[in-house]
Amino acid sequence: MYTKNQIIELVISDLGSEGEGIGKIDGFTFFVKNALPGDRIEARVLKVKKNYGFAKVERVIKPSSFRIETPCDIAAKCGGCQIMNMTYERQLEFKNAKVRNNLIRIGGIDEAYLDSILEEPVGMEPEKGYEVPVRYRNKAQYPIGVNRDGKMIAGFYAGHTHSIMEADDCYLGSPDNKVILKAMLDYFEQNHISAYDEKTGKGLIRHVLIRTAYAYKEIMVCVVINGKTLPKSEGLIEKLLALKLDGTIKSISISPNMDNTNVIMGNTFEVLYGQGYITDKIGDVDFRISPLSFFQVNPVQTVKLYNQALEYADLKGTETVWDLYCGIGTISLFLAGRAGRVCGVEIIPQAIANAIENAKINNKDNAFFYVGKAEEVLPAFYEGQDMKPYILDGTESIRTDREDFLSPDVIVVDPPRKGCDEACLETMVRMNPERIVYVSCDSATLARDVKYLYENGYKLKKARAYDLFPNTVHCEAVCLLAK
Ligand code: SAH
Repeated sequence: MYTKNQIIELVISDLGSEGEGIGKIDGFTFFVKNALPGDRIEARVLKVKKNYGFAKVERVIKPSSFRIETPCDIAAKCGGCQIMNMTYERQLEFKNAKVRNNLIRIGGIDEAYLDSILEEPVGMEPEKGYEVPVRYRNKAQYPIGVNRDGKMIAGFYAGHTHSIMEADDCYLGSPDNKVILKAMLDYFEQNHISAYDEKTGKGLIRHVLIRTAYAYKEIMVCVVINGKTLPKSEGLIEKLLALKLDGTIKSISISPNMDNTNVIMGNTFEVLYGQGYITDKIGDVDFRISPLSFFQVNPVQTVKLYNQALEYADLKGTETVWDLYCGIGTISLFLAGRAGRVCGVEIIPQAIANAIENAKINNKDNAFFYVGKAEEVLPAFYEGQDMKPYILDGTESIRTDREDFLSPDVIVVDPPRKGCDEACLETMVRMNPERIVYVSCDSATLARDVKYLYENGYKLKKARAYDLFPNTVHCEAVCLLAK
């Protein structure tokens, strides 16, 4: 048997769903982070269970042909980029296989049939001078803490922990972030503003959120604080506005979060400088984004994904479409230009406020929105409750098109990782749309829901993986289901 700290030699034969290397010795399986299929490694045993164990790479004896140098020095420790040491081609293959396997194993889709409808995965071009795509993210959230010497630091949580690893830059984000972060830390130090301590619940600064709208080069900074006000904030504003950046800071805000939980943002935000939003463009639609709203992190890939959703929706101009889990109305407004009418449903009120503004700035007067849980709004609407949607001017409207929305042509869903609630799926089926377009960030729950829809009369017609998160194990997928 194996014991902790034992040194073993291992050939990695496979990749687990979290990007960990898998190697076997006489039927005993080891999971090894940062190891790749084809690697021959010397590993240190970390933990031993009955039939499997965990080990750590000590030395690569013979590297896999997929192994590359990571541009980032801390990739192995940070945990954010689990597969940055893999060629991009292999990363894409890994993600496609993950979507495919889940649809077969969890979704119950016939393998040969799936292979006839699964389209080529869509990836990004690696950055000039790099082997993998980098600097694609428009959003960065840095936890703030102190190091052993009591100095304030910003960084990232080291993989699966809550200890902050100091890092002033991230290869996935904008180069401006580093400059902004340094100015903020200087300002906190100079004004003796403390970092929040999760253990004691004391201290003020929890996180710094920086969002960039690449289309218009607008930057938003939001400080998440364990309190209601940020002392001497005029000084911070002055300091940030004086920075030499590639983009322009359009918004500085605080978001109070006094809860002792893992949730990063508070429920509200208060503007200290500028607007409460930045504006980005996807395709030919402008979007206002507030600190609290969901917005896809990779604009280059997002437009491809939304165009695919549009293609699968196959709109001729007169259709009635629901867009469930609509966020700030991204997909809704993308579809509104090609449909008769679109109605979005979203749980976060501030996101719907953005969605209404976005409908207005893009002159989409055929887009309507409801605030609430998709699994509550949709059944309530179907059961005949008189629900007035929000429209363009932010007021509630009289519904004259109720009949159309009771039997829509297309329903688009884009749920969070946990997928759709069954009450939502059940009502979708009862509404009997011609097509369902399912956009997903977790192919396991996607596959579960595809199975439910299949058992209720909808067949998977097309599926495609979209890599919105290069160097990480995450992947988006979009599916077309039809009667
Ligand atoms: N379609 C949007 C947002 C997708 S992310 C886009 O592409 O930008 C998923 C969204 O679902 C988030 O905005 C989240 O706030 C919202 N959400 C989470 N649970 C929900 C629920 N039960 N009902 C409705 N919306 C929900």
